[in-house]
Amino acid sequence: MTDIAARWAELEERVARACAVVGRSAGEVAILAAVKTRPPEQVVEVLAAGARVLGHNRAQELAAVEPRVRELWPGGYETHFIGALQTNKVNQVLRHATCVQSVDRIELAGKLSAAACRLERTVEVFVEVNASGEPTKAGVAPEEALDLAGAVAALEGLRLRGLMTIGANSPDPGVVRAGFEEMSRLSAELVGRSATAGARELSMGMSGDLDLAVAAGATMVRVGTALFGPRPS
Ligand SMILES: *Cc1c(COP(=O)(O)O)cnc(C)c1O
Repeated sequence: MTDIAARWAELEERVARACAVVGRSAGEVAILAAVKTRPPEQVVEVLAAGARVLGHNRAQELAAVEPRVRELWPGGYETHFIGALQTNKVNQVLRHATCVQSVDRIELAGKLSAAACRLERTVEVFVEVNASGEPTKAGVAPEEALDLAGAVAALEGLRLRGLMTIGANSPDPGVVRAGFEEMSRLSAELVGRSATAGARELSMGMSGDLDLAVAAGATMVRVGTALFGPRPS
């Protein structure tokens, strides 16, 4: 077994344990492999280990890596874009990804919608929320998230899957947990509205905080270093 395969198996167990603690079933939580900075060969290893969702952060890296990965591992997985997205990179990203998790403004959603219509495709999206309020983080403010999500869901060519966040950068688990719990409340409110009732997903939790995210209701965790080891600096 390769290191990556062993880490994938450990990660699945970790997610299953985090689910068990709160009485959830492990099948409720998907694992996205965050592949930024990793070469195509390592990305293929994680697919071989069982990953079925990949997440990229940079448009240029996505365009360089994804075609090579497809060649080595043709199909059977989803590619998501999870990084900051400039509107002038929308077309490049949509050549390689089916889902954009980092929709944080209506202008970007409008560009994605226009591109989806032009391509005669449905583009899946998550609305990214800055639940921690940290100024360095992307994402719409929690109090504006539901309005943005409603507007995004109404755009042609887009399918809103749910909400996404990056956990608070704090050594205090209480602070991190509070952010995830706020996301869970927002998600429940979103699903309670008829126009967005199908947008049930909640993408939150990374290598350092996924247990707290799963406890708060995450349906997808996004994991890089716990699978691939530390990123090259
Ligand atoms: C890198 C990244 C992750 C994974 O982070 P790790 O700490 O390496 O697990 C998750 N989400 C986003 C948006 C990222 O950029």
